[in-house]
Amino acid sequence: MHRGIAAQVSYGRLRAKAKPYGIGGNQQADSGMRIRVGAATDVGRVRKQNEDAFALAAEQGLLVVCDGMGGTAFGEVASQMAVATILGQLNGSQDTGEPPTAEEAGGYMLRTSRLAEAVRRANKAIFQEAQNDEAKADMGTTVVAAWVSGDIASVAHVGDSRAYLWRKDHFEPLTRDHSFVEEQVKAGVLDRAHSLQSEKQNILLRALGREPEVDVDVSEVPVQPGDYLLLCSDGLTRMVPETAMSEAIANLREPDAICRSLVDAANNNGGADNVTVVVAEIQSEGWRRWLSV
Ligand code: CA
Repeated sequence: MHRGIAAQVSYGRLRAKAKPYGIGGNQQADSGMRIRVGAATDVGRVRKQNEDAFALAAEQGLLVVCDGMGGTAFGEVASQMAVATILGQLNGSQDTGEPPTAEEAGGYMLRTSRLAEAVRRANKAIFQEAQNDEAKADMGTTVVAAWVSGDIASVAHVGDSRAYLWRKDHFEPLTRDHSFVEEQVKAGVLDRAHSLQSEKQNILLRALGREPEVDVDVSEVPVQPGDYLLLCSDGLTRMVPETAMSEAIANLREPDAICRSLVDAANNNGGADNVTVVVAEIQSEGWRRWLSV
């Protein structure tokens, strides 16, 4: 059955915990890979508004987390615009599996370059809106997105929202923050542990909506059944250590339960910021066939 966008895509700027935490469900991504997804978002213990936004288009294998900024409610406009633009750009599309030419995709798979282009379009849309309305002049947003097809996850990001890969208790960041402190760590003037205490953690070097053009970091990550992808805003990474994130996946295994547990952990540790977590479990299609024999 053909499913329209409303049926296959769930996304939201959830203001409070009350709404059932996003989405969930089992959906088949293309190329025989199946993913199980979950999400949770919360305003936290300090902020008045939740400026994070996320999207899950599980059937398409697409996950997005955005963390808006800009004050007086316009951060949520920016994050919501980014999510909507990216979904709109990639609406219902599947990977054709055709290898791109180098000119088309800069050496990346077509799907990866399409994801990056969708992020660039989101940047343009937010930048134009910020130019047109003085009240929104400071708005912007981070973005991290993953598009899973077959055994490859295309990952794109701008800012300090992150993607991680969990595999057999090994937990690995797939993104490097575009932030002042990350640059200090890279330059060797600040170690990782101290970076978590830095007062300069808020300084982003890249965000959507600030400039007419933006550089989007992309990568292609091989995935296999049993892997988990986790995308989150900094409201999680500043409140909850990576070891606890990895343990939540190892112990719970169910994407919605993992997300809820991590949001609770962020709040229990102070909840200083909005927190959003999206998780996809990569599953094999094989068991289905086996059961049906
Ligand atoms: Ca944040």
